[in-house]
Amino acid sequence: MAVDVSLFIDGAWRPGASGRTLDVINPATEDVIGTVARAEIADLDAALAAAQKGFAVWRAMSAFERGKILRRAAALLRERSEKIALIMTREQGKPVKEAKVEISVAADTLDWFAEEARRAYGRVVPARAPNITNLVLKEPVGPVAAFTPWNFPINQIARKLAAALAAGCSIIVKAPEEAPGSPAEFIRALADAGVPAGVVNLVFGVPAEISAHLIPHPLIRKISFTGSTAVGKELAALAGAHMKRATMELGGHAPAIVFNDADIDVALRVLVARKFRNAGQACTAPTRFLVQRDVYQNFLTRFVAATKALKIGDGLDSATDVGPLANPRRIAALESFVADAVKKGAKLIIGGTRQGHKGYFFAPTILAHVPTNARAMNEEPFGPIALVNSFESFDEAVTEANRLAYGLASYAFTSSAATADALARQIEAGMVAINDSHLSSPELPIGGVKDSGYGSEGGPEAMDAYLVTKLVTQAAG
Ligand code: NAD
Repeated sequence: MAVDVSLFIDGAWRPGASGRTLDVINPATEDVIGTVARAEIADLDAALAAAQKGFAVWRAMSAFERGKILRRAAALLRERSEKIALIMTREQGKPVKEAKVEISVAADTLDWFAEEARRAYGRVVPARAPNITNLVLKEPVGPVAAFTPWNFPINQIARKLAAALAAGCSIIVKAPEEAPGSPAEFIRALADAGVPAGVVNLVFGVPAEISAHLIPHPLIRKISFTGSTAVGKELAALAGAHMKRATMELGGHAPAIVFNDADIDVALRVLVARKFRNAGQACTAPTRFLVQRDVYQNFLTRFVAATKALKIGDGLDSATDVGPLANPRRIAALESFVADAVKKGAKLIIGGTRQGHKGYFFAPTILAHVPTNARAMNEEPFGPIALVNSFESFDEAVTEANRLAYGLASYAFTSSAATADALARQIEAGMVAINDSHLSSPELPIGGVKDSGYGSEGGPEAMDAYLVTKLVTQAAG
């Protein structure tokens, strides 16, 4: 079942202007399973013109009508979930059950923002003189350029697109070349639901070429990027040079703090699931496990046992818990993180190597007593590697949690309300999950601080990113 993915521009599927394509590879087998069209500058210019036209149509439509179309798209996505999940798994590697959850969350995201469209309220501000009316209006910012990565091929788009469309913006999405099929199905659901031509446009190609053309372009009024901190800083600089508003959802290096008084069953359930979901390729995955001295050995022993019980395999196999990594770049990166940590004194408890000869499988890996100068303790591993260290005091744990420039997700486990309250105030992160793991629902703001980026996706905050404020002050008569 080869899937050949085209560009979607001005309401039509089409090849790139040059006819060139890129191969799509199944990470579980390394087979070429399809192609994706490669956009040239002429295609990007066509997408820009379409987005300009689409913006005029879409912003003129009532929020009520826009919401109806988004809800219809959500329903189509749910109807087509089985088929789209298989496409996602074959291209990206995650277990089908995870792909289905992702599609269901994307549908919920469309539904939630469909409602939020109707709540983009302005204000009436009391005037200082009689007969004056001060209105604060919220207007869509304009055509958006969104750059989304391969780890959650649909959801990374849904979070940006749902809010942008709800606000009345048009959008050009540069989706991941590694996993283009499910993003194309997501866009198809929107088109089939009645989104007018030009409102959503989908391109693939050479990421740096596309961002270098779209971000400075005068028609584009807002940028949203999800990906690594290094690339995010480049794109933010480009956006700044051209005075474009930007949302940056970048890397993380989440601490997971387990206190002596924690419910270890809960900590293990949450942390094993969050660590190895999507083979660890999530910006919110727990990475630095900090376990208080009295429970350290017990936690480590049980964490190792739970990790060993995970079944590694092709995501198409319903028994699989952990699929392959999405691309061979991650294998090389993870091997080098492990070698460096061991060289610097860490103890490799399990895993640490590629698994099998075919497919980009990497064994779930646990390293203990990892020194803070190990690269893995400082750079985002973005894979199935857990670093488990011990700590003595609350202050020591918080100092380590806040040591890095990253500040995206964080996790903590304690039965003390006082400890939980102190953590909530002192952890430098965009998200703090205490005895819990529910970080990414459509109604919740997701985003980072420090090098993890700026702006929120999810929640009413996400709408603000696509709205501009206009003051109208008017004297009667
Ligand atoms: P990468 O830094 O090369 O790319 C990350 C993402 O940015 C990819 O989707 C890529 O297509 C895109 N990209 C790269 N250069 C670009 C440019 N000039 N303009 C526009 N887009 C560009 O790394 P990678 O090997 O693909 O992924 C590994 C790293 O990326 C990880 O270490 C992780 O930090 C980060 N990442 C983060 C997320 C996230 O959810 N925040 C998702 C995927 C990858």
